[in-house]
Amino acid sequence: MAYKNFLRAFFAISGLIICVLASCAKTESSRIELALGTVCSITLFEQGQESVYDEIFSRIREIESLMSVNIPSSDVSRINAAAGIEPVQVDKDTFKVIAHAIYFAELSGGALDPTVGPLVALWGINSPAPHVPTQEEINSVLPLVNWRNVELYNQSVYLTRRGMALDLGAIAKGYAADEAARIIREAGINRARIDLGGNIILIGQKKDRSPWRVGIQNPEESHGAITGILQIPEQSVVTSGIYERFFEENGKRYHHIFLPSNGYPVDNGLTSVTIITENSIDADALSTSVFVLGYERGRLLLESIPQTEAVFIFSDRSIRTTPGAMFILTDKSFSVKR
Ligand code: FAD
Ligand code: MG
Repeated sequence: MAYKNFLRAFFAISGLIICVLASCAKTESSRIELALGTVCSITLFEQGQESVYDEIFSRIREIESLMSVNIPSSDVSRINAAAGIEPVQVDKDTFKVIAHAIYFAELSGGALDPTVGPLVALWGINSPAPHVPTQEEINSVLPLVNWRNVELYNQSVYLTRRGMALDLGAIAKGYAADEAARIIREAGINRARIDLGGNIILIGQKKDRSPWRVGIQNPEESHGAITGILQIPEQSVVTSGIYERFFEENGKRYHHIFLPSNGYPVDNGLTSVTIITENSIDADALSTSVFVLGYERGRLLLESIPQTEAVFIFSDRSIRTTPGAMFILTDKSFSVKR
């Protein structure tokens, strides 16, 4: 799959990136590790605080061990194994993230649905052999995808039907990024950059007080090609797009974000949605929600949420932004529409 090639390429050049950072500015340091099934990179723009890396990565791994569907002892795996049988007591982190996912499921009218687990498994999205299922297979799992059948009570979680399964892939990276930011701020570090597989948080201000600059991925290209640059203050930027995970079958591309109502990858003309807001967990939930809702309904949802901006990229190479998004186009084969 495309992202595996990306990981290989990334690690081939990551040493180079660290060297470049070190030689450009002696006060900067970075650490890059694989976690949450993706590349996690932390950059501190101050010297003498490098011990905080251990704390950050151990917290990220703790969150992974609680919320991964690939770890049999995780809270999420235990909840899924007990679906239709009994409620499961979980860690407060897990409970918090699931409650947050349910909040956004309701807010988005079910566009974001943390019970997409059976669909993700059926399409084999995170497996070595993803494939297009039959319509009968899709029909058989669709009744299991319904966030209303998640019962939350007193730090316990119950999926009311056998075969249901949670998947927190659309939101848990955001929580991990917020936790990394909390650790950095509590350590008294004033300037840092967190990037957990595209969930970016910028902390503090640049030395010259100019805005931070974040490249927005060209959704048609592999990683590294950008359509433009976002200028932002101390905020989180999260993108959901067709390029992050996909496979091809009979010449057609299938990506990893599903329309819960029909069980197929979303096909609404959007190729990516970037959300800029204060918390990464909200940005993560919203980038997936808005991608699934589509431009018109997604924009309506965003208008109800203060201090949230967005960049929408479409398959016809047009780009739209909300009024407060400071986006500078760099790839002129795209065009910004107001
Ligand atoms: P987002 O848009 O934020 O999320 C898309 C993901 O959410 C999909 O991949 C799917 O999992 C899920 N999803 C799809 N449609 C919907 C919908 N309508 N509503 C809600 N959710 C939806 N990847 C691996 O390959 N191996 C691993 O071991 C692994 N472990 C992980 C452990 C954790 C705790 C987390 C959070 C992620 C892990 N991942 C792993 C990565 C994960 O499977 C996704 O690829 C990733 O989270 C997608 O993030 P995104 O920002 O690209 O897309
Ligand atoms: Mg998301």
